[in-house]
Amino acid sequence: MVRELREALDDHQFEVLYQPQVSLKSSVITGYEALLRWRHPLRGLIEPQDFMRSAEMSGLIIPIGLQALDLICAQIAGWDDHLNIAVNFSPRQLSTKNAAREILDTLRRSDTPHDKFIVEVTELGVVSQDAAATLQTLHDEGIRIALDDFGAGFASFAALSELPIDILKVDQTLTWALSETKHPRERAFIVLESIAEIAEKLGMESIAEGIETADQAAAVVRAGYDTGQGYYFGKPLPTDAHITAM
Ligand code: C2E
Ligand code: MG
Ligand code: MG
Repeated sequence: MVRELREALDDHQFEVLYQPQVSLKSSVITGYEALLRWRHPLRGLIEPQDFMRSAEMSGLIIPIGLQALDLICAQIAGWDDHLNIAVNFSPRQLSTKNAAREILDTLRRSDTPHDKFIVEVTELGVVSQDAAATLQTLHDEGIRIALDDFGAGFASFAALSELPIDILKVDQTLTWALSETKHPRERAFIVLESIAEIAEKLGMESIAEGIETADQAAAVVRAGYDTGQGYYFGKPLPTDAHITAM
């Protein structure tokens, strides 16, 4: 896998899909999240869950992340000015000494405005001091930081007060719990609502992801979320699909 990932880097086999994020107040698309795919010459399109671990363990996530960022910046150059772009970064990439400089250089080369750019980071419970310093530098440069997958895995409450987080993205399993039949849905709703309240009190934007049904969309609106993302609003698609749709 690692040798193949090196070849994938050399041959530029990585692609990016874009999933819309929608304002739950105005129903307008406010931006897109960039999601990485690997177009393997024999196996076809491979999802992150099937290569991200190897990429992380081998450290190849660092050059892969930079190559992806280059591609994303080039692809969004023609987009409408008001659209945000959210890009996922691995804590490992953010921990490298030059991470902030490399990200800022790429944005400058492509004229990508800082106020439209969002860094999504997950597993901040295990984030290093170096990654925290990278996030602070980027935040000071006017780039927004989103804490991804909040409420599941390693995303911790401590991160909310310790790190410069602008956007709280609640994990999709919490959204899906709204439609769960085995457990009381009222509890799922209260958990979601409380997280939205924390975000609001901290002055953060709140995003609910993994929204698949109209009922879930209605519930996250009631729970107070600012923004929604999920198959109900739109699946991840190549950039040309969005441009022709706009
Ligand atoms: P994530 O950042 O939390 O992204 C959300 C994932 O949920 C995406 O999976 C998306 O396709 C999927 N999704 C969105 N809406 C729905 C829905 O309504 N229902 C369901 N069942 N799924 C939905 P994807 O694209 O497979 O990405 C998985 C994870 O891989 C991402 O989770 C992110 O942590 C990571 N990832 C993706 N692209 C990159 C990247 O460029 N760099 C890094 N470091 N990680 C990435
Ligand atoms: Mg994300
Ligand atoms: Mg997520």
